Amino acid sequence: MSAIEQATGYEPVIGLEVHVELSTATKMFCGCAIDFGGEPNSRTCAVCLGQPGSLPVPNARAIEYAIRLGLALDCEVIDHSQFHRKNYFYPDMPKNYQISQYDVAICERGHLELEVDGRTTRVGIHRVHMEEDTGKTVHVGTSGRIHGADYSLVDYNRAGIPLLEVVSEPDLRSAAEAQAYLTELRAIVLALGISDAKLEEGSMRCDANVSLRPRGTTAFGTRVEIKNLNSVRSLGRAVAHEIERQTDLLDESGVITQETRHWDEDAGVTSTLRAKEEVFDYRYFPDPDLVAVEPAPAWVADLTADLPELPAAARARLRAGGLDADRAATVVATGMTRILDDAVAAGAPVGDAAKWLTNEVLGWSNERGIEPAAVGLSGSDLAALVAMIADGTLSTRLGRQVLDGVLAGEGTPAQVASTRGLEQVSDAAALARMVDAAIAAQPDAAGRVRAGNHKAIGALVGAVMKASRGQANPALVNELLRARLINDALDG
Ligand SMILES: [Zn+2]
Repeated sequence: MSAIEQATGYEPVIGLEVHVELSTATKMFCGCAIDFGGEPNSRTCAVCLGQPGSLPVPNARAIEYAIRLGLALDCEVIDHSQFHRKNYFYPDMPKNYQISQYDVAICERGHLELEVDGRTTRVGIHRVHMEEDTGKTVHVGTSGRIHGADYSLVDYNRAGIPLLEVVSEPDLRSAAEAQAYLTELRAIVLALGISDAKLEEGSMRCDANVSLRPRGTTAFGTRVEIKNLNSVRSLGRAVAHEIERQTDLLDESGVITQETRHWDEDAGVTSTLRAKEEVFDYRYFPDPDLVAVEPAPAWVADLTADLPELPAAARARLRAGGLDADRAATVVATGMTRILDDAVAAGAPVGDAAKWLTNEVLGWSNERGIEPAAVGLSGSDLAALVAMIADGTLSTRLGRQVLDGVLAGEGTPAQVASTRGLEQVSDAAALARMVDAAIAAQPDAAGRVRAGNHKAIGALVGAVMKASRGQANPALVNELLRARLINDALDG
């Protein structure tokens, strides 16, 4: 909790609405392929373009994914729910309504447990409902936003992609808790394999509802919805900013306007987007083209039995296996649990393997904007790399270069080390020649070591490392130099 949150007499009340784009092969109500990077409007048909007479057919896999997420969030799977039409006009929605769920969702009343600052908080999940995505509008002009655009283009490839909306209860009390919630929800989605959940690219999207109330009271204050939060960091910054803004407003005038606000990442502020629509503005009614959703109990039981290990259980298991809590949390949150498990199964010590994943692999994938879980590193390659460092074939520095080659698809660690010529030189005769050359080149340093200044040995080790382009085994070089200079001096 920040100093500001603590210092004021207001308690933040935060709820999140998170949209998850499902990675099914086809759209929610038609057979159009979900394939990114296609020409605009090439993945469309009469159904997702809303042409008269076309009929939607629900995607069973998308319903399965909704149930799986609901089960992972400890929700009740509702035995009878319906699709509704949410009516409004916008050019990216050719039917002029979005198919969504209204009074009853497929999954309701769940919860999610978070650990924030060593405290466990239980956050209620109000519901998980199914809907379809809209098309994508590109505003052409200097601002990139609809205001001030010269014209706008619409791509319907995204129209009809299945979405799940996960609505939390307003149980979050700080920016840090909101961030922990989004991180955990994303880790669950990744563990289930139902979406690639990329916040930056929009396959997972987060809106935050933020209000304040006097501490010690229970009635809700007027809430503001913040849009455009496309990273966990943005969510934290936007919520912290909004708490500060509302605190100032309440102190000055006591009035908050209910509205939707836009988060400006560069300016670090929120600004008014539009007055908040009320639910009755959308004229919801049951979609007469679609039958009710009534998942068979046996199917739900099968899906329950089939749930994979979820992040909380994975963290607990890794900690019990000797991994420290922070690393366990990072490995799980970034979806690298399977790589780590495979590396350990192939013989790598869990701590060493996790260190390479959280330091090097994570850095490598972040730099390239790739999901760490999708970098194409196998557990056996990671185990081989760790083993080559442990047995002195590679120094840590050379290990990084080898990893770089492995991640670039150049082969196994042994192949990369060999083709790039990166093996550490541990051959005694070769090292002895390099050590002798270094002593001959730096007689002053050698003399100081002989005279008892053992720190001066560093300059000679450095010279050998430089001459070998980092490939000499530093421990052996040190040993050889000591044998030459210190033990000789003692003997003499
Ligand atoms: Zn279609």
